[in-house]
Amino acid sequence: MSRTVLVVFGTRPEAIKLFPVVQALGQTPGLKVRTCVTAQHRGLLDQVLEIAGLSPDVDLDLMEPGQTLDRLTARLLTGLGEVMDAERPDMVVVQGDTATAMAGALAAYYRRVPVAHVEAGLRSGDIYQPWPEEVNRRIVAPIAALHFAPTDTAAEALRRENIAADTIHVTGNTVIDALLATRARIAQEPALAAGLDDLADRFAGKRVVLVTTHRRENFGGGMEAIARAIGRIADRGDTAVLFPMHPNPNVVSAMDRVLGERDNVARIAPLDYPHFIRALELAHVVLTDSGGVQEEAPALGKPVLVMRETTERPEGVVAGTARLIGTDEDRIVSEIFTLLVDSQAYSAMARAHNPFGDGHASARIARVIADGFGV
Ligand code: UDP
Repeated sequence: MSRTVLVVFGTRPEAIKLFPVVQALGQTPGLKVRTCVTAQHRGLLDQVLEIAGLSPDVDLDLMEPGQTLDRLTARLLTGLGEVMDAERPDMVVVQGDTATAMAGALAAYYRRVPVAHVEAGLRSGDIYQPWPEEVNRRIVAPIAALHFAPTDTAAEALRRENIAADTIHVTGNTVIDALLATRARIAQEPALAAGLDDLADRFAGKRVVLVTTHRRENFGGGMEAIARAIGRIADRGDTAVLFPMHPNPNVVSAMDRVLGERDNVARIAPLDYPHFIRALELAHVVLTDSGGVQEEAPALGKPVLVMRETTERPEGVVAGTARLIGTDEDRIVSEIFTLLVDSQAYSAMARAHNPFGDGHASARIARVIADGFGV
């Protein structure tokens, strides 16, 4: 008898990190995989679904403009509960730290359906950084029956919270599976990422700083400081800024107001995943407050400066490829300038290093789930 695994996700990073898991589960005899998207972030999610060739079995389409966290959570819980009543899965898989992951785990728990948590055990130790993600993932931990920790550090954090050691499996982060698989696809089919060729020509001879920013903690003053810092970086003639901008109005309005239009800055729409990988490859340095980008940049040997005060991904910092720099304007500018002028400082950070995984995390996850069912 085959067992049904329902994979639930709602945002771009979850889709990137789960499409290899959905594929691996689908290739495992004895498992039937079903997918449900909540579309907590519609546009960015759809970009990934299209590239991954994934058409969800259920689409709750819950995105509302200006949605509050409590209304979103309430709708997610009700919507996902109804899906679980209809699908009657044997297991629910959630990923990471979103409201979808938290509500998905809770809805499964209310139905006594076991939960598997992909990317378990990330902790900053501060419930407001990242907010509300730190608490979302902590809520999933006591519920989950299987914890797929990307690294030993994450596994250790779970053990410290008294999670039973035999339910924790160190698998690597599935983002590296997604990155390597998509890079291999681009190598076969360069047209998948050819849309940046014009920009690469325009910026030829300049060092490209790739910027992404979207964290809630940085909305307001932090975002304005980031905008001013980008302006100062772009004022250097030898440097260009490539900035695929998150559509969140808090990001867009701060950038419109403070940064405006500049020759050396390409503020562009969010890139689909193959194009974002190409952007990472074009980059000399990455400046970001993203979680996933902190994991991808080291894998490609790109120094990454992280605009946060704390990180739940210390592995890149320990390996020397990432540095936490916060959002002070002068600090951002001086850290970037150091990497631009000091070649020793640059090469110390620009080493391809993969503390986050080897590209086989999804296969390990599918195997553990199948073994747990005895299929
Ligand atoms: N990403 C993308 N296009 C972009 C910017 C980011 O595909 O224009 C990818 C990136 O490669 C990473 C993921 O989106 O895998 C990170 O998502 P985000 O920064 O939104 O969320 P976080 O990782 O901080 O939760």
